[in-house]
Amino acid sequence: MVKLNRRIADALCTAITIGFLMDNNDGKSGSKTKFIYEDGAREHTNLLDLLKEYRVEGTSITPQTSKAEQPFIWANSRGGFSKIETGGFASELKTLVGRLEEEINKVDSGGLHGAYIGGIADIATKKLNLLVPSLLWQRSRNTHMSNDEPSNATVSSSYESSRAISQVLIDELKGYRAAKGGIILESRSIDRIRAFGDLPKKLTSNALFASVHGLITAMTDAPPINSNSVNVELALGKDTCKIAACIPCSLFASSQNAPASATHLGRGDNWNFPENFGIGSRGIYASWEKTIGDMYYKGMGAGLVGDKIRAIPEFIALVEKDKSMIPQIFLDSLTFEGKFTKRIADTLQG
Ligand SMILES: [Zn+2]
Repeated sequence: MVKLNRRIADALCTAITIGFLMDNNDGKSGSKTKFIYEDGAREHTNLLDLLKEYRVEGTSITPQTSKAEQPFIWANSRGGFSKIETGGFASELKTLVGRLEEEINKVDSGGLHGAYIGGIADIATKKLNLLVPSLLWQRSRNTHMSNDEPSNATVSSSYESSRAISQVLIDELKGYRAAKGGIILESRSIDRIRAFGDLPKKLTSNALFASVHGLITAMTDAPPINSNSVNVELALGKDTCKIAACIPCSLFASSQNAPASATHLGRGDNWNFPENFGIGSRGIYASWEKTIGDMYYKGMGAGLVGDKIRAIPEFIALVEKDKSMIPQIFLDSLTFEGKFTKRIADTLQG
């Protein structure tokens, strides 16, 4: 039986991402996310050249606005809020982000891992309820995965640096009992942090881990209650994008008809749902699965992309064998760490 490897993982991420890029720019159905890149980043111009070469039409990736202006991501069905609406809010959040990040940056994570807190904000009252810091949980390998890829050593070291950062945030947020300048930590978050306790220092042998980003916790735990409310994510850490969601978060947000304000093509390593999420959340999960499948087909039909990917025999043997497994294989593919820009370049140029 063919097992998932880096090449298959990158190819699957490529098909889904290109489908998402195309879908986002076809002008249908209301609000969309905005794909952005960091000003001057060569990998994004390479990506645009590659899409042209593969005759993928109608995608748009634009330079990002200043991180200082708006250091957070939001998702809501109204299609976002204007800068004016979020202006006062942004300055309050800037202070909070600065303070939390100071703590986070004391931990050396090799620059690869960040911490992601979700929340729900009320634009009218400028109140923010932070829900819970980015959580990690241990999971086992599915049968279509081998015990060698990704290697135990890679997974362990990645977990340990992610854990160190998340633990700092958990400790820091334990102190946020009361309102601080409009920032409130919900009591159920405190309960959850307590229940979660300290993150285990090491994974058991052969285990993988899941990283639950704040936007997902917020959207599943505290969806908007009126037209003034919006889910937010604060992405903390030296190399986090801050103003844009990762591809997996953004795919999820779009599947719930609440597109992320912006999307970057960097990392979404080990992205996953909260533990035991499927229970009681069938509708949400089914919409997400449908979106992943739709984007896959769209990407495979884009220009010459499908031809290139279908020429990988092990890809056909694993991914096309049982298409209902594509959403799960996509989650497993995210345990092979790397930027989406690199996944796409390696797949199309490989
Ligand atoms: Zn994310």
